[in-house]
Amino acid sequence: MTPTTPPTVLVLPGEGIGPEVVRVGRAVLEHVLDRAGLPATISEHAVGRPAYERTGQWLPDPVRDALDQAAAEPRGAVLFGATADEPIGELRSRYDLYANLRPARPLPALHAVSPLRPERLEGVDVLIVRELVSDVYYGRRRTGTDAGRRWAGQEMYYREDEVRRIVRCGLGHAEARRRHLTLVHKANAIPDVFGLWLDVLAEERAAYPHVDVQDRYADTMAMELVLRPADFDVIVTGNLFGDLLSEITGAVLGSLGLMPSASLSPTGFALYEPVGGTAPDIAGTGRANPLGTIGSVELMLRHTFGAPRWADRLAAAVALAVGLWRTPDIAGPGDKTCTTEEMGAAVCDAF
Ligand code: ATP
Repeated sequence: MTPTTPPTVLVLPGEGIGPEVVRVGRAVLEHVLDRAGLPATISEHAVGRPAYERTGQWLPDPVRDALDQAAAEPRGAVLFGATADEPIGELRSRYDLYANLRPARPLPALHAVSPLRPERLEGVDVLIVRELVSDVYYGRRRTGTDAGRRWAGQEMYYREDEVRRIVRCGLGHAEARRRHLTLVHKANAIPDVFGLWLDVLAEERAAYPHVDVQDRYADTMAMELVLRPADFDVIVTGNLFGDLLSEITGAVLGSLGLMPSASLSPTGFALYEPVGGTAPDIAGTGRANPLGTIGSVELMLRHTFGAPRWADRLAAAVALAVGLWRTPDIAGPGDKTCTTEEMGAAVCDAF
């Protein structure tokens, strides 16, 4: 295998709106690769409910084999739609997709759909760096009954090396961006876990003397993201707080359907997916916004294909397309709305 081997992209549409947005995302990816003359090996596989109904497995063995193979290649990637539960958690931990990058930059054409006043959106350009394979989500679970009362517990747990690699990832991105990093934690209420995060940050920041470092309690951060989102550059945090802060950021932008994400492993294997989930309330109606998936394709062009200029061109095409076309979630009063497919076609036309 040489470094020039074309990337292998596994397309896993999943369920809910997943197949609808991924169909558009794949079409956009193929359009860009075609224009750019970039080769890739692309294959599509059922996972989640559609796979379970056919095979009795949420992640069928042949798909697992294809993923194992792609993960071993120098440039393997997944374009993921959404699944309600399995197998996304398993994919994240099996392939150690520990660094979840969630960029949020409001498009000027969409300032009016944000609940924030336009002046608060000026200059907003945030990157949430969320740890993705540890925290309370993967902590020890116990339940029982004590004197006739049910109890349940799930442990918040972080190892130092898990904290160190995500803190380094955040610092590296901050250095390449606007050199400002905010660690979000809750050391006042959860002192052992977040004391560890603060200790690690204090050690690691020495290697990044040009990065301005600060920290915030998660509750304060939730408020400040709404009141002063332009004050932040890179936000590094754990799995749970990253999940919550991303939804707030989605709301600040105007729709969760706009937010892309990339989840990277230490070897470079990467999974790209929109931040929103299966959205059962709109599945099958053609109302899903594909821009979070198209933004994830943009991230794939940057990280997996190493093609930042084509990624920039795709971002420019999106900015043009939303000037004229709106799915219902980003439509203002009186705007004519378009379908998921029409938005995808508008982006390809503008590219
Ligand atoms: P899941 O359990 O899969 O996370 P959910 O409904 O709890 O599903 P999301 O899928 O994240 O959570 O959806 C939250 C809200 O955001 C829903 O109202 C949904 O319609 C909306 N939403 C999510 N993704 C999109 C999208 N791509 N386009 C438009 N609206 C979206």
